[in-house]
Amino acid sequence: MTRNFFDRLPPVEPSTTVGFSGNSLDRRSEGRNESTYAAALADPNLRVFLLRGDEAMMRAGGTSESLFSLKEAKALGALMDDAILLGWEGSSPRIAAIVGNETSFDVDAFHAVPLRTLATAAYSGGILSDTVEPGTLGALAQARALLHWHAVNRHCGRCGTRSTMAQGGYRRDCPNCGLQKFPRTDPVAIMLAVDGDRCLMGRQARFAPGTYSCLAGFVEPGETIEDAVRREIQEEAGIKIGRVAYHASQPWPFPMSLMIGCIAEAISTDIVPDTEELEDCRWFSRDETRAMLDEDHTDGLSTPPRMAIAHTLIRAWVEAG
Ligand SMILES: [Zn+2]
Repeated sequence: MTRNFFDRLPPVEPSTTVGFSGNSLDRRSEGRNESTYAAALADPNLRVFLLRGDEAMMRAGGTSESLFSLKEAKALGALMDDAILLGWEGSSPRIAAIVGNETSFDVDAFHAVPLRTLATAAYSGGILSDTVEPGTLGALAQARALLHWHAVNRHCGRCGTRSTMAQGGYRRDCPNCGLQKFPRTDPVAIMLAVDGDRCLMGRQARFAPGTYSCLAGFVEPGETIEDAVRREIQEEAGIKIGRVAYHASQPWPFPMSLMIGCIAEAISTDIVPDTEELEDCRWFSRDETRAMLDEDHTDGLSTPPRMAIAHTLIRAWVEAG
């Protein structure tokens, strides 16, 4: 009997369980051109996401609302010249714009809420008055990544001339030499190394006290994801890795990464930590790791929150045992 290749995959796609996934906007990338942005701006159904760095502007008062009319956006100081067209929700265009840090607003009517805070609350079942739907978080991640890309790519990389936005924000064109640039996503490999019934986790000094997580690092040019996993663990922990299995991915808009989550098979066990990167790095038994996931560890150690792909990787390995 022929075995279906896809039978080996988990019944629920793991990437759907992480924060910033589930973006429901219709990007219409094939039909996006210079006129669609103008048409979107003139559409009475247009709604605008407003971002201030890593924060989303939200209406205060528990309405969970991160969308504004064009008139409201302008009143809040949106920089509409640099706005981008994200896509459509049904027939309603969605645009994202930056609100400057110096912009003042009525703090009783509006909040600027960190995207990490929104994602953590949305996926933990936590009660936060400014929590948004998972699909909206995905759109906010798309907005944050694109707005950042434009902010750091204002000039042509070949001749240095100021470039102009095209296709509603999905391209920049150089008026001098004609170079076209498209938004980039930076691939980051994040991995849980495992040795039988124990896994390798480390902590950076910037982590919350007691938090341990997967190791991670940028995939370098000319490198496969698997090779990046093996190199990162070797560099950060001195552990040699054999087989590598992809598990899930996560849009990570800080500022514009795609986290590629893998489980990695350790073939050596003596840890030689990179003390520049890591404050601590050690093996954890499956039972100890389970207690950390359940926030029931005797020493108060914990993993990142549910919205983080590190949590997804750690939980997948714990539950597989
Ligand atoms: Zn140029």
